[in-house]
Amino acid sequence: MAHWPSVIVSTPVHSGMGVALSYRSEHALASGTLVRVPLGQRTVLGIVQDCPDQPPCDVGEAQTKSVQSVLAGLPALNDEWLQLVQFAARYYQRSLGEVAMGALPAALKDLDEAQLARRLKKHAAHTPSAQTPQPLSRPELSAEQAQVLDGLAHPQQPVLLYGATGSGKTEVYLRAAESALQAPGAQVLVMVPEINLTPQLEARFRERFEPLLGSATVVCLHSGMTPAQRLGSWLSAHLGQARIVLGTRMAVFASLPGLRLIVVDEEHDPSYKSQDGARYSARDLAIVRAKHVGDASGTPCPIVLGSATPSIESWHAAEQGRYLRLNMPTRIGGGALPQWRLLDMNHQPKGAVIAPPLLSAMQDRIARGEQCLVLLNRRGYAPVLSCHACDWKSSCPHCSAYRVFHKFDRTLRCHHCGFTDRVPRACPGCGNLDIAPVGRGTEQIEEHLSALFADVRRPDGNPVRVARMDADTTRLKGSLQAQLDAMHSGEVDILVGTQMIAKGHDFRRMGLVASINADAALFASDYKAPERLFALLMQAAGRAGRDAEFAAAQGVACEMWVQTWHPTHAVFQALKAHDYPRFAAEQLAERAAAGMPPLGHQALVRADAKTHAAAQAFLNLAAAAAGNLPHREDVTLYPAVPLTIQRVANVERAQLLVEALSRSALQRFLHAWQGVLLHTRSAPEAKGLIRFAVDVDPVSI
Ligand code: ADP
Ligand code: ZN
Ligand code: ZN
Repeated sequence: MAHWPSVIVSTPVHSGMGVALSYRSEHALASGTLVRVPLGQRTVLGIVQDCPDQPPCDVGEAQTKSVQSVLAGLPALNDEWLQLVQFAARYYQRSLGEVAMGALPAALKDLDEAQLARRLKKHAAHTPSAQTPQPLSRPELSAEQAQVLDGLAHPQQPVLLYGATGSGKTEVYLRAAESALQAPGAQVLVMVPEINLTPQLEARFRERFEPLLGSATVVCLHSGMTPAQRLGSWLSAHLGQARIVLGTRMAVFASLPGLRLIVVDEEHDPSYKSQDGARYSARDLAIVRAKHVGDASGTPCPIVLGSATPSIESWHAAEQGRYLRLNMPTRIGGGALPQWRLLDMNHQPKGAVIAPPLLSAMQDRIARGEQCLVLLNRRGYAPVLSCHACDWKSSCPHCSAYRVFHKFDRTLRCHHCGFTDRVPRACPGCGNLDIAPVGRGTEQIEEHLSALFADVRRPDGNPVRVARMDADTTRLKGSLQAQLDAMHSGEVDILVGTQMIAKGHDFRRMGLVASINADAALFASDYKAPERLFALLMQAAGRAGRDAEFAAAQGVACEMWVQTWHPTHAVFQALKAHDYPRFAAEQLAERAAAGMPPLGHQALVRADAKTHAAAQAFLNLAAAAAGNLPHREDVTLYPAVPLTIQRVANVERAQLLVEALSRSALQRFLHAWQGVLLHTRSAPEAKGLIRFAVDVDPVSI
């Protein structure tokens, strides 16, 4: 008897969201089965959504093509996974095909049945068989860790682990994983916000679990892997061989048939939100996923969100009792948190890059054999080159932004579109030979510090070594690890870098951290800017004094220095007092007053077009056409505005903000509005529109 499976295939972004195509099959196919089906002129990978034994009513039987082959070597994707991608597509306003196919490894899409069989054979050959389990070696838990683990044993809701930097959150994750993994076939998903945090975490999980569960037990999933590596990890997870999957936001979509615990480390980090395609929040999806797993299995799937500076929305959820908050205020070994030194730049010599008191504090640290970290959130040598004679500036011809001067290869590079060329010998405007850098980036600070410390010696008599770590120095494979190794071995004395150095790393000899130019963030128009600044500086500070014994032997408290023109600013005062709860309460009060998230809900519609007029017209027309839609009265639509950087790579960008009091009202309206947005694309005024995208729960405005 024939069957008519509906199959999810990769479909254009906005084509009838959530719809699967009907095919014909001689056999009943379980939902989640991977198949290859004809689509236009090609054969593509598809996922069976369901498999009725009646032909679809709107298509004649003859029109329906047959499933070409079934990838029988692979178990079907389970319902929980299908539910996850369906939820994500619906919630983030994308097509199901796009989200579901985007959640599978790209390399899987090209394999036919025979190739897949070969790949699986190779996979099996490379998967080491289990060895005799060795007993675990692990540290004694601190009292706080033990208490948190008790609380984690039977959680009925998501757990917010509010733990100071260095309080040993990773050990909590390891122990929680250990107990989850006692169930046969259980799997654990651990997410970190950035690729460069995976090696350290991977090492700790391998060290802990490989002796027990074998070397196939931990796999990674992140964008730094080759397609073949990603496929390998994905297969291990899907086949249940890997018991622990570590990864960045994409890992939230891993197929994990045995999922029994989810950890989201540094849950506040905006990197969990995807900034293109389906703009999903991996943290939020993880919460939804845990709920689905729990519903399906009848026992809650624990999920832990860890941070020293929780996101305001998670904090709010905990305050309301929707999340269970567990606290770990104390550092392992009883070490002190850094003391804050707000250095008032109004009272420092004019033009000082590193003010004298900070410089001398750094010298003292180095003389005692400690390391220092200097944070500056701007890579390159200088953000602009400028001619004082004619006012020429290093603008990017394709963007409304300046190109950044990179001294090491003498280039001007646009950090938005990538446009790069050599630094001109003379001013392109007037021929003046004297074009000068304006402002400072990490490259310049590295150079400057090397000069300042040229005559200083370390306790061992060697010269001071200054190193830099940012997206430029870590581009090559292995370079990040090499640089971190140089830090950990004590070879480097002063590390200069962007936010990349502030997060997560467990430096052991760090006595002083300095942020030398954070003020710009104080006056940003984005309502989340203070939250991000607080988190960044608190995280950066958290790199100091992590080894309680080392710090105690030094006999001097570790320090966090901030050079600022606004030392009395509320954000700095809250940091100085180490008072995140007060800061969060203030933020929540401000947001409540303004109806901002998490007390209101938002979406942005972004439009890209050849002209700014088209981008704006598209948005404003779509807003006007929303007039009589159901649920229109539940939302506020604001007029379209240009993005802060209006033009990137010759594309003009505008956005329109949608606000609602409740999440469900916002969702209802967006669904009703979808068709209008699609229709408005063809309005004459919108001619030149390239694309539009809805960003639900945007992380920046
Ligand atoms: P966090 O993630 O909270 O900033 P980590 O998990 O990196 O902190 O822990 C900080 C340091 O303390 C690490 O070097 C870790 O090995 C160590 N540590 C954690 N728990 C314990 C423990 N129970 N006993 C001894 N050392 C521990
Ligand atoms: Zn000039
Ligand atoms: Zn550019």
